Amino acid sequence: MGRVYLVGAGPGDPELLTLRAVRLLQQAQVVVYDHLVSSAVLEFVSPKAQRIYAGKRRNEHTLRQEEINTLLISLATQGKQVVRLKGGDPFIFGRGGEELQALAARGIDFEVVPGVTAASGVASYAGIPLTHRDYAQSCIFVTGHLKNGTADLDWPSLVRLNQTVVIYMGLGGLPEICRQMMAHGAAPNLPIAVVQDGSIASQKVVTGTLIDMPDRVARAGLKSPCLTIIGNVVKLHDELAWFKPPVALTTV
Ligand code: SAH
Repeated sequence: MGRVYLVGAGPGDPELLTLRAVRLLQQAQVVVYDHLVSSAVLEFVSPKAQRIYAGKRRNEHTLRQEEINTLLISLATQGKQVVRLKGGDPFIFGRGGEELQALAARGIDFEVVPGVTAASGVASYAGIPLTHRDYAQSCIFVTGHLKNGTADLDWPSLVRLNQTVVIYMGLGGLPEICRQMMAHGAAPNLPIAVVQDGSIASQKVVTGTLIDMPDRVARAGLKSPCLTIIGNVVKLHDELAWFKPPVALTTV
């Protein structure tokens, strides 16, 4: 019987991989990876390993979740050492739990290797502390993925004072998120940042307020993956931004 290692790849910069992740990538016989895993991270995969792209972009699922589960089960049953590599941390909006449940049901051995989740990795590279004694004593992570155009979020819990809200998968729903936050009492001038491609060369940070952010993000032409951070901690970005990515090469 093989074993499946559910490994977090971090937000993009390969320097943020754990030692355990690097060792496993070098030893794996098969690596099944998602689209969020950066190409720089994949360079650590042993050249002898088989690589399988499992995809999963919004609305464009390369392999369906059940197919991924079946694939992992079949590889492990063949006796393979499998790394299931996911962006960020596999237990934070990564469906890692569901994949492990499928393995557990078949009695397949597994191990979990945490990764730096987008909230902490991207915030660090954007110079936005998620808590700060002057601005936020708590921090909440939510998914902004919209179902039928409406985000089914617990808005009153998101507009609490002295709290930072981190929204994963919230780019498409940004106008609705800003609108709902204000409708539930958040100040229109509450600072907000949207960070594209955090921790890699193409990183872009756009800051604004709830009232003007949808326009700013549209003008900047940001693309997925983007992480949204809402709260007064965003004010620290101007002072603390330290990561100066080289100008990304663009193809005309
Ligand atoms: N398990 C992952 C999250 C998967 S959900 C983790 O722990 O980070 C995918 C969402 O994560 C994206 O839509 C985006 O909101 C966020 N994300 C992941 N990597 C990112 C990056 N490098 N820059 C900005 N956002 C990122």
